[in-house]
Amino acid sequence: MSTRKTALITGANKGIGREIARQLGQQGFSVWLGCRDAARGEQAAADLRKEGFHAHLLALDVSNDASVKAAAGTYGKTNDTLDVLVNNAGVATGGYIAPSEASLDDMRAVYEVNVFGPVRVTQAFLPFLRKAGQGRIVMMSSSLGSIGEQLDLTSGTYGVNLLGYNSSKSALNMITVSFAKELAAQGIKVNAANPGYVATDLNDNQGYRNVQQGAAIAVHLATLGPMGPTAGFFNDGTEATVGRHAW
Ligand code: NAP
Repeated sequence: MSTRKTALITGANKGIGREIARQLGQQGFSVWLGCRDAARGEQAAADLRKEGFHAHLLALDVSNDASVKAAAGTYGKTNDTLDVLVNNAGVATGGYIAPSEASLDDMRAVYEVNVFGPVRVTQAFLPFLRKAGQGRIVMMSSSLGSIGEQLDLTSGTYGVNLLGYNSSKSALNMITVSFAKELAAQGIKVNAANPGYVATDLNDNQGYRNVQQGAAIAVHLATLGPMGPTAGFFNDGTEATVGRHAW
């Protein structure tokens, strides 16, 4: 077994997740790209290896119990510990539609990935995180999940009233707090990250931030030292400018 620190990033074949993997690779982590499409995932891993990083595909569909269980089994064949888990995979199925018109099927599909996915993956990989001693878990949330911001008439996102997506990220924020409270005594820190509005396929590349900017806060929270916070919701920034987001 390697002595290199390890990180699992879900939804890492593209977008913010791939960049989180790249930045953690730059920091010397052995990165495992949790991807539901093996071909796309292997391509992303191969690209990172070409850049000189230790990158591996881990076939994993966060919405599927058997797939996540199998992924933990595969991971365990070559690893005893996991230092970092970034629950990044996310979907916004249904798009822009008024809450009164939103389909329950779309909402269920969003929750399966954005809410139950992080719970499923966290539970499956906790044995490895516990063994790492100082495990770090990052939940990729969104400012759209902030109830405070959704009620703020002056907020730029006040009008972005997406029933399924927004509430999935609010739920994820509470899930962050729940796991953080349980795992604090074991030295595991659990925080939620807001990447800002980033140009990716999720928003038809409409975001005004790039993936490097979007990945920064997740990487920061993934590499917190022992004095770092837990049970928080954070905006992007460097060590000096990182800021708490309103719940
Ligand atoms: P993206 O480019 O669409 O990437 C989403 C990733 O999630 C893809 O790799 C996708 O894989 C993966 N994924 C979706 N369902 C999955 C499943 N069931 N199992 C495994 N992987 C799955 O979007 P992004 O903008 O980078 O989003 C990353 C995270 O940031 C999401 O949680 C999103 O909600 C959050 N976020 C994004 C923004 C933004 O402005 N972009 C803002 C706030 C929060 P496939 O390629 O197979 O579909």
